[in-house]
Amino acid sequence: MRTLRPVSAELPSALSAASIPPPVLEVLDGLRLKGFQAFLVGGCVRDMLRGQHPKDFDLATSARPEEVQRCFRKVIPTGIEHGTVTVLVQGHHVEVTTFRAEADYVDGRRPTKVEFHTDIEADLSRRDFTINAMAYDLRRLVDPFGGQVDLAARTVRCVGKAIDRFTEDGLRALRAVRFSAVLGFSLDPDTQAAIAPTRHVFRKVAFERVQEELRKILLSPGAARGLSLLDVTGLLEDAVPEAKGAPFDAVVNAPVDEAARLAVLLAHAATPRTALQRLKLPTKVIERTLELIAGAHPPAPDASPRAFRLWLRGVGREPEQIAQALGVAGALGAPIDALAPRVAAVRGDPLTVKDLALTGADLTALLGNPGPQVGALQRHLLELVLETPAENTAERLSNAARQWCAQVADIPR
Ligand code: ATP
Ligand code: MG
Repeated sequence: MRTLRPVSAELPSALSAASIPPPVLEVLDGLRLKGFQAFLVGGCVRDMLRGQHPKDFDLATSARPEEVQRCFRKVIPTGIEHGTVTVLVQGHHVEVTTFRAEADYVDGRRPTKVEFHTDIEADLSRRDFTINAMAYDLRRLVDPFGGQVDLAARTVRCVGKAIDRFTEDGLRALRAVRFSAVLGFSLDPDTQAAIAPTRHVFRKVAFERVQEELRKILLSPGAARGLSLLDVTGLLEDAVPEAKGAPFDAVVNAPVDEAARLAVLLAHAATPRTALQRLKLPTKVIERTLELIAGAHPPAPDASPRAFRLWLRGVGREPEQIAQALGVAGALGAPIDALAPRVAAVRGDPLTVKDLALTGADLTALLGNPGPQVGALQRHLLELVLETPAENTAERLSNAARQWCAQVADIPR
């Protein structure tokens, strides 16, 4: 027979079993000793309940930021106006945020004022999803919105009315898709249905923030599902219209790497650079993605060695670069088992002007003063060695250079 017990007395076993780092425990204790409430909150509680070790442990407290500063010797006022300080204990950084509720989102992203509270439930009510709106103080789990039920059902659901929450903060719609992709959870139907009607708010979100979330979606095992959700809700059209029609299933077959996955997503796009720049990605990622897109369709397995040398020149000859480029090509359907040995066979060959056995200075010395023609001569010699790598010796290149100069000198200018 079932006995009735208060829910709070039943601490889920995953929580009792979770290992919480000693510096985090020290900060929880330190605040409690001074009479304040202190909870682990948000993502760490969600992850502990799932039996996963959290990436980081965020603390929420009834203490005001100045009070937190007085409780510990070393405190950095990281985001003190929003109630967040970083406590340094045992050489670790622990973020502590005063319970708060937010009001008046003017730009669909940042609350205009922050109100501090002494009530954990007020703090939890401003959080985005039920699975992220739980707090744990080592004795009880505070779960006012059914986070545990949604965790068990593997559902991402807004706290409160989804339309209102997405209207307050446009980033939440994208975060909903991100958690769904990363955790492999479904989106609650009401939560999903609220995305399209609030797209005008999503469009106000800074692309840096969009990029961060998109990156997490692309690198997750649920990338294909995440992308389909972005597509059906219209978020993809707002953030990366160039990805329309991309083979979402192929993205997960590419290496777990930002440039590789972006390359699969944008391989068919007419203007991939525009998309990458709009997302404000770092230049290095943009350039690498474009190289991978250019190499996304390698030569056929029976193509000439020269064709493979040109392909390798574009994607890079380092083993990791080759693996990444073949990974992208393979995800898009290229027969990489047949291609890999062809690529390996030309990997050591000269591919660029820098690999020529004669430098620009050597050529200038050899020919007297060919001036601006050195560049043209180098390209000519490179063509020779791309066709026949054995030509890349100082002697053969010197001969070829002399011949070229004689011919060029013959051409009337
Ligand atoms: P991750 O493991 O990816 O870091 P997380 O849940 O810790 O996941 P964060 O972005 O680090 O996610 O945010 C920490 C917590 O802050 C969330 O769990 C949620 O409670 C709250 N939160 C973050 N962003 C928002 C937002 N835009 N609106 C409401 N609550 C938010
Ligand atoms: Mg986090």
